[in-house]
This record gives sequence, C-alpha cells and structure tokens, in this order.
Amino acid sequence: MALLSIVLPAYNEEQNIPNTARVLSELLSKNQIEYELVFISDGSGDGTFEEIRKEAQRDVRIKGAEFSRNFGKEAGIFAGLELASGDAVVVMDCDLQHPPETIPEMWEKWKAGAEIVEGIKKSRGKESLGYKLSAGLFYKIMSRLIKMDMSSSSDFKLLDRKVVEVLLGLPERNTFFRALTFWAGFRTEAVYYEVQERQYGESKWSFFSLMKYAVANATSFSTLPLQLVTVMGIISILFSVILAIQTLLKYLMGSAVEGFTTVILLILIIGGFLMLSLGIIGHYIARIYEEVKGRPKYIISKVTDNIQGNVLGAWKK
Ligand code: UDP
Ligand code: MG
Repeated sequence: MALLSIVLPAYNEEQNIPNTARVLSELLSKNQIEYELVFISDGSGDGTFEEIRKEAQRDVRIKGAEFSRNFGKEAGIFAGLELASGDAVVVMDCDLQHPPETIPEMWEKWKAGAEIVEGIKKSRGKESLGYKLSAGLFYKIMSRLIKMDMSSSSDFKLLDRKVVEVLLGLPERNTFFRALTFWAGFRTEAVYYEVQERQYGESKWSFFSLMKYAVANATSFSTLPLQLVTVMGIISILFSVILAIQTLLKYLMGSAVEGFTTVILLILIIGGFLMLSLGIIGHYIARIYEEVKGRPKYIISKVTDNIQGNVLGAWKK
C-alpha cells in the first residue's frame, strides 16, 4: 500500500505538537491512509523537540529532527522532504492553519494521477490590514517576476515522490518552495481550502522577517532588479544629453555662471541612482557568495530514535 508522509516544520510550537499529531493520526486512520508524520523543529527554544520525541516513542509512525539553530521554514521543509519516505509527501504548517480535512482530498487526486496538488487559499483568513497589504503587494510583485500566478498559493501541497526527488536534487541553497513547484512543472491539480485560525501560540513572522523573505525570494527567482539598473542608467543618459546641450548653448552665448541648482540636483539624483544600483548589484553578489560557499541548508542536531540511516551531525541521545 502506498505511504503518505506529512512534513511539518515547527518553530517554538510545543503547544501544537501533541494536538496536531493526534488530529492528523485520527483523520488519516479514519480515511484508511497509511501515513507517517515528520516533524522538523527549526531550532526551537522551547520544548518542541521533547514533544516530538514523546510522540515518536508513543507511535513509530511519528518521527522528527531538531536543527542546531533556527534555519527558517524553507530549510525545515527541505529537511522534512529529505527524511520523508512516502510515495507522496504533504507539506503543511503544524499550527493546523492548513485544514487537515483537505489531505484526503489531495490524496485522492494523487491516486487519480496528479503529481503535484497545490493547496489554494480561498480567502486569506483573519490577518491584520498591514499584513494583508504587505502580503498582497509581495504576491503581486512575485507573480510578475516569476510570471506565474502566486496570489493564493501557499506552502500547503502534496508532492509525488518524483517531484520530491527533483526538489532534493536542486543544487541551490536559497530555495523558495512555493514557487519551485510551479517551476518544476509536472501534472498539477489544485484543491481549495479556507485558512483556519491558529490553535496555540502566535505567528512567527514579523513585518521585518516578511520583507527579508520577500527580497530574498524575489531575487532568487528573478534578475529583473538588475535590469532595473540598466533602465536607470538609460534615464540618466537621456537627461544628461539634454542638460549637456543646454549647458553648451549657454556657454556659447556667454552666460555660463548660472545653473548652480542644476548642479546640486544632478549630484543628488545621480548619487542616488548610483548607490541604489550598487545596492542591487551588491545584493546579487551576496547571493552568489552564499551559493558559492556551498554550505548545507540546515544542520540537524538531534533525531528521534526511529530515524533510519546516517544524518549529518545528528545524535540519537
Ligand atoms: N516556522 C518554522 N521556522 C520559522 C518560522 C516558522 O519552521 O523560522 C513554521 C511554524 O512553526 C509553522 C509554519 O512555519 O508551522 C508557519 O509559521 P506561522 O504559523 O508562524 O506563519 P503564518 O501562519 O502566520 O504565516
Ligand atoms: Mg500559521
């Protein structure tokens, strides 16, 4: 029988683990789906991994790992994919904001031949206005840059084993899971779900971390900002031609002392353009630098006893 793995990245979610494990186990057993739960604690500062370990001792179908520090949700997802052994893998949040009842629906679509089942948000749940606006803007820009409609996509997806292998085989360190499944192609179908209220604890994203995420993802998927530098250069050149002609004319007519304001403006505008351009280029160089170093996406410091094989840096005790 086919095995379904559920990957759940968790950062400081000790209150959610037991509940989520119970809800998922009950639901999947009821639907007669053979399953395993893979929890990845993302360098949590609370008892998240202890809770995972407790669950793993209770039920061999539950396993998990702990990172040596916080590496971010992307890393958590990829570690989960690595440890999952299912024929199909579902990635979902461990705060149950992605409704578990959607999983059987995804599973049916997979059995009917879908290789990727995208979870699409029907509405964005209860979020603050500021969050909604910034998230909205982020997805608009991202969709433009990647040339795929991402406005209602999420990290809630089912992937066939072959898609998982493709993603795990990607050499890059800076991944953007949500968009990579679009990029990978394959036979994709969608299920629609309503974002739920968070059960316990609070959202781990601050405005600042969202902005950082947005910039990192936009630049990992597009070089458009670099082309923007060229556009700024062209605009500057056009202006400089006009001003050069004006200045020369004035000089020839013998009234050349004026124009101090123009000089100040030019210095300010060109200075601004230059620094912005350098910043954009610098950002890409930083990304190249990070990729070239080739460090692992994450470091696992602990695993539950039922994890098979060798895991880098992992100790079972
Ligand atoms: N998460 C993670 N590492 C982080 C931040 C978040 O693994 O650095 C996990 C978190 O535990 C949760 C999921 O990612 O399972 C989504 O996070 P959260 O619920 O805070 O985000 P929101 O639902 O508000 O977008
Ligand atoms: Mg959440």
